[in-house]
Amino acid sequence: MDLQGLKYLVVGSGFFGAVIAERIANDLGERVLVVDKRSHVGGNSYSEVDPESGVEYHKYGSHIFHTKNQLVWEYCNRFCTFNNYRHKVLTNYMGRIYQMPINLSTINGFYGTSLNPDQSRQFIAEEISRETFAAPANLEEKAVSQIGRPLYNAFIKGYTAKQWETDPRLLPADIINRLPVRFDYNADYFNDPWQGIPTDGYGALFRMLLKHPRIEIQLNTDFSEIRSHIPTDCLIIYSGQIDQFFNYQHGILGWRTLRLENDVVQTGDFQGTSVMNYSDESVPFTRIHEFRHYHKERIYPRDKTFICREYSKTWHQGDEAYYPINTNADNVVYNRYVAAAARYKNIIFGGRLGSYSYMDMDQVIGHALRTYEDSIKKS
Ligand code: UDP
Repeated sequence: MDLQGLKYLVVGSGFFGAVIAERIANDLGERVLVVDKRSHVGGNSYSEVDPESGVEYHKYGSHIFHTKNQLVWEYCNRFCTFNNYRHKVLTNYMGRIYQMPINLSTINGFYGTSLNPDQSRQFIAEEISRETFAAPANLEEKAVSQIGRPLYNAFIKGYTAKQWETDPRLLPADIINRLPVRFDYNADYFNDPWQGIPTDGYGALFRMLLKHPRIEIQLNTDFSEIRSHIPTDCLIIYSGQIDQFFNYQHGILGWRTLRLENDVVQTGDFQGTSVMNYSDESVPFTRIHEFRHYHKERIYPRDKTFICREYSKTWHQGDEAYYPINTNADNVVYNRYVAAAARYKNIIFGGRLGSYSYMDMDQVIGHALRTYEDSIKKS
């Protein structure tokens, strides 16, 4: 491929790369090349139809779009419509099913009580008062300070042990800030006003974002293959792993990866909901996704359903990176890469991998839009 004269190169076609490419083509009016090492666009948010069951499935585990950022919501709605799906999660603990995040139904079901909201607040406050620590500084302390030790042990401890295989006292508290705790029967997983799944799927959304005569896409292309041919004055928007870009010279950042076990089951409804968590450590997977529940507006077969068992695994170099672990030691290494990156004036790092940050899709899109306005359009 001839890269001569190329002014903008986007590495990785997940939300960070795709949104910036769209802006460069549509707003700046410039040509942009997007390369991706995979055979499809969309990074880990990609979805496609499974040919056997006809069900749209998320290739890298469930992705539910939710945001409180109106700009991001309006931006996305220019490229797709969203259905009215609102995410609800159940969790299986010792063979019994509870609502997640922890709400009044979970509390009453777990303790065998019928507390009202005020009584449950008081009851949980008493559970919390049995614990002694000042300001909660890590995942375990944060969770226990919100729900007390017994609920933590049942619903958080085992799931977190499987998900992270890291002492929860070494994990950042903000991982658990993702989960609200409620003293009513609201079972929504997210509080955000705007939620849904792209009606035609994430694959279609990415195709719309990248559909422009000034955007050229080259799949199955690793950055290392083209690195030495990039013109020196080309701006590179890089959404791969930042430590890999620097050949791991300052150390290796810690990630978690997933093993996703897909299965077509001969029933019209396997579990009655889209996501069932399994909080017992003795169950090897963390959750089961059943993708038909994301598209109630579609007509799916009544005798087949597509499910995916999700197993969390230690990441090794070369594995797909899903979740940054973000221990203090990791963040020291990351800051060395940030300092190294600051010396490159023609490279912008972003996305979950490029900024080593556990961001949701809407946060990545917001970050991409800001990066375009502040660092690309103005320069
Ligand atoms: N978590 C848990 N029990 C659950 C669900 C979540 O302990 O049933 C904890 C766990 O540490 C997890 C974190 O909350 O990593 C964030 O969960 P979330 O559902 O936001 O994770 P994601 O969907 O991004 O994998």
